[in-house]
Amino acid sequence: MKGLRKDGRAIRVMAVDDSPVTRKMIKKALVPEGFEIVGEAGNGRDAVELCEKIDPDIITMDVTMPIMDGLEAALIIKQKNPRQKIIMLSAMSDQNIVEEAMSRGINHFCSKPFTAGDMVAKIMQVISE
Ligand SMILES: [Mg+2]
Repeated sequence: MKGLRKDGRAIRVMAVDDSPVTRKMIKKALVPEGFEIVGEAGNGRDAVELCEKIDPDIITMDVTMPIMDGLEAALIIKQKNPRQKIIMLSAMSDQNIVEEAMSRGINHFCSKPFTAGDMVAKIMQVISE
């Protein structure tokens, strides 16, 4: 199981996406590997609030969402905790936002659509940094 730390503790993931179907896909990819989904949010504003409460090891952050988009949420979260690990989930149509994010120091991305293997591999890479 890849989603466990050396001490056996599960890697705690917060999944942020306005699509419940995508959140379900993330869970399906990660839970069988031992990761724990400790929180879910459907927009950036809820993500910022929830992140403070649950302090996840890593966040998967959709880009395009209502109320507050993923880039704005990621920047607020990073401002509060520069060490917070965040992976942006970006579709082809998000290319401008991806460039903006990279210019502002957010540089982990997983492109949509993703496979379970893509998601697990990306999380393991970012966690190990
Ligand atoms: Mg979206």
